[in-house]
Amino acid sequence: MDLLSQAMAAVPRAQLGSLPIPLERLHRLEQSLGVSPIYIKRDDLTGLGPGGNKVRSLEFLLGDALQQDCDLILATGQVQSNLCTLTAACANKLGVDCTLIHNGDRPEQLQGNLLLNHLLGANSVFLGPVDLNTRSLAMEELLREQKQAGRRPYAIRNGATTGLGAMGYAAAIAELKTQCAEQGIDHLTIFAPGGNGGVAAGLIYGNQLLGNPFTLVIISVEDDTPTLTRHIEETLAETVSLTGVAFSGIDWNYTCIVDDYRGEGWGINTQESSQAVLDFARLEGIFLENVYTSKLFVGMCDLLQKRKVNGPSCYLHTGGLGSLFSQYTF
Ligand SMILES: *Cc1c(COP(=O)(O)O)cnc(C)c1O
Repeated sequence: MDLLSQAMAAVPRAQLGSLPIPLERLHRLEQSLGVSPIYIKRDDLTGLGPGGNKVRSLEFLLGDALQQDCDLILATGQVQSNLCTLTAACANKLGVDCTLIHNGDRPEQLQGNLLLNHLLGANSVFLGPVDLNTRSLAMEELLREQKQAGRRPYAIRNGATTGLGAMGYAAAIAELKTQCAEQGIDHLTIFAPGGNGGVAAGLIYGNQLLGNPFTLVIISVEDDTPTLTRHIEETLAETVSLTGVAFSGIDWNYTCIVDDYRGEGWGINTQESSQAVLDFARLEGIFLENVYTSKLFVGMCDLLQKRKVNGPSCYLHTGGLGSLFSQYTF
């Protein structure tokens, strides 16, 4: 058994995503950049709710919740949180209740992910404009209350960026390796976004455990490279302690973390990223959004055009469709 299979065998998993997710060519983008081949991993199509990367993390987190026989899932996020919406969708699929705790007010009209949460029947709590620490404390308080009331609640912490959540993208490495073998793709460079760094941590771990079949370029959407690197390393340490399969540190020959495209930080468009949403929809018929996927797209295109990255490339589309409907009004 390879090391990644060994790590995956050590942790529980629920089947939630419509896996494997398609790996496809972006022919029109190739023509427009004069670079080929460029692939896309369609993790915006993971199969539940509006799709996206969090379904992969939730397979492991909710697998753990089911193993503990939990009957209520708690998650926190800002009002347009992709994690919250996907948690509600996945909890429904598994037949457990879901409560979402938001920092922010309930708007007059529900839009984007908030509208989806309502349609999904999630129980939503709006704390008003509180800080993230207050939001976490509110979840821990609710966890205690629900336990006292005889429920078996399970909390999803830190936007699903935990040692267990990261296993979603370690598993995705195995999926990608199989697809590359089937399609005859060699030495693929995967471009992925970095927020809290859970996606990145999983990719880095899976890649090392399979002998580094890929090169990973992580485009930060929020923090500078040293900060994001620290977050990734913290998550990796948690992952290793859960799986017991050792990791010898980030292998910088196969990993690059770039912070040149984040602009003013999380959720704040750059001029290029808001243009990217339009460009990509018009080129390929695929929607990006403002927070994560458009900045990744700008970063990937720039690095490919400047020939800073060469060879077959893959855009890892992490989803976020639900939030798009709150980002634009025309
Ligand atoms: C949460 C999220 C990410 C970032 O994941 P991290 O693990 O926090 O780095 C990227 N894209 C989308 C659409 C997300 O919802």
